[in-house]
Amino acid sequence: MRVLENYVGGRWVDVPGAELHDVTNPASGEVVAQVPFSAASDLDAAVQAARQALPAWRDISTIGRARFMFDLRQKLVERREDLARSVTIEMGKTLPDANAEVGRMIEMVEAASAIPTTMQGRILEDVSRGVDAETIRQPVGVCAAIAPFNFPAMVPFWFLPFAIACGNTFVLKPSEQVPLTQTLAFEIIDSLGLPPGVVNLVNGGREVVESILEHPGIDAVSFVGSAPVAKIVYERAAATGKRVQALGGAKNHMVICPDAVVEPTVNGLIGSGFGAAGQRCMAGSVIVTVGDAHEKVIPTLVEESSRLKVGDGLDEGVDVGPVISCDARDRIAGWIEKAVADGAELVLDGRDPDGVQDGSFIGPTILDRVTPGMDIVSEEVFGPVLVVIRAETLDEAIEIVNSSPFGNGVSIFTESGAAVRKFRHEVEVGMIGVNIGVAAPVAFFPFSGWKASFLGDLHAHGPDGVEFFTRKKTTTSRYFSGGATSGAYFVER
Ligand code: NAD
Repeated sequence: MRVLENYVGGRWVDVPGAELHDVTNPASGEVVAQVPFSAASDLDAAVQAARQALPAWRDISTIGRARFMFDLRQKLVERREDLARSVTIEMGKTLPDANAEVGRMIEMVEAASAIPTTMQGRILEDVSRGVDAETIRQPVGVCAAIAPFNFPAMVPFWFLPFAIACGNTFVLKPSEQVPLTQTLAFEIIDSLGLPPGVVNLVNGGREVVESILEHPGIDAVSFVGSAPVAKIVYERAAATGKRVQALGGAKNHMVICPDAVVEPTVNGLIGSGFGAAGQRCMAGSVIVTVGDAHEKVIPTLVEESSRLKVGDGLDEGVDVGPVISCDARDRIAGWIEKAVADGAELVLDGRDPDGVQDGSFIGPTILDRVTPGMDIVSEEVFGPVLVVIRAETLDEAIEIVNSSPFGNGVSIFTESGAAVRKFRHEVEVGMIGVNIGVAAPVAFFPFSGWKASFLGDLHAHGPDGVEFFTRKKTTTSRYFSGGATSGAYFVER
């Protein structure tokens, strides 16, 4: 059985004495590798390596660091299929979906390669007579990221390329449920010739996370995962004086107006609700129909969803892969039972999908006649389950959206610019799709969730990514031989 290693100071190192946990292919239940649960001392070794590498790395020219990004991009493109296959094997999503994820991973490296432009500061001449002010951006130091299971390739790359392109050094703790893809990504990185210690990989679970939060040698922490853990990370990282961004759970609504174009809307709902078996942080899970949109869209949605093929994501023609584990499948089934007990009508039941045996499968499920007070509306299910609430007006739909504790993504399906304008103005959600079911922003824009979906102020990637991984330094200067006046420096009227 393959036992994974850590990558510290430019070398692969085993983790002697560590507890080993199985990494399972959720489509077959087969154990594909074992991951070591590293201890605080293993994390410390990675932090020491990152600290040692920091002074020389931050002094490499910005264009020099950008060139590493060009090389990394090229190598990721060459290994794209291997990376996608790895995602499907350990996480379960279909191969085309995994391929799209790796595309987004590569896009992050492309955005980070623009660092000689995006990291620029600002300067103003003559803030006083003969006095200039300038702000430059410098790296924050050693940055750590903690990742979830649902995007094994992409989410760690929301941080890694931006962090190192800005001149920081980096420690990654991938999800213990999906450590294989980042092991492959680090094998690719290893071939770049980066100075040792610039990037480090520490496998493990809670103990590594807690050590990251406490370690005095770590300056910034990026977290993506469930809302309760995001809150712990946010509070504890702040308590030890670290810069922190913590992306939490989600419960995303999709509002259907009566003028929505039926066929692409149904496709959008299916892609959003059932793609990656509903395990995307931007997956739509609550459909809110406005007026007669229900009768126009929902019967077709149920019909089309019932035809989706559930199976191993590696097989051609499969639409919905497994969920991450048998525990997750049982938890999702529990939510369906609870919603039925609360009065919802089960119009499509995916709990016993056809044609699958081993593995943790649950098929597309739709619950109608759901009301805003039910638990299935407020709690994150994180599986292929769509619930339908009927609203009379757009105002009522917006009220339902805004009653959620989460604020990650929301979609509206309509051809009305006025409806979109009102919706965008009033919803308390950070990422909006207009006739788009999964409106995850591209790498050049921030991943701007709100409320319990995001704790912090600077988001992942885009301009916020560069802000997060740099700190500002402002110099105010004058030179007497150049004609500046002596005495107190003051701003003239
Ligand atoms: P999770 O919170 O269980 O785990 C995330 C990371 O935290 C893992 O690396 C894990 O090892 C660690 N961890 C888990 N429990 C911990 C604890 N008690 N103390 C310290 N560390 C702990 O999340 P998951 O199940 O891997 O991922 C799914 C969740 O991630 C969903 O809630 C989803 O909405 C969320 N997510 C959010 C976004 C976003 O952008 N907001 C993106 C992707 C995923």
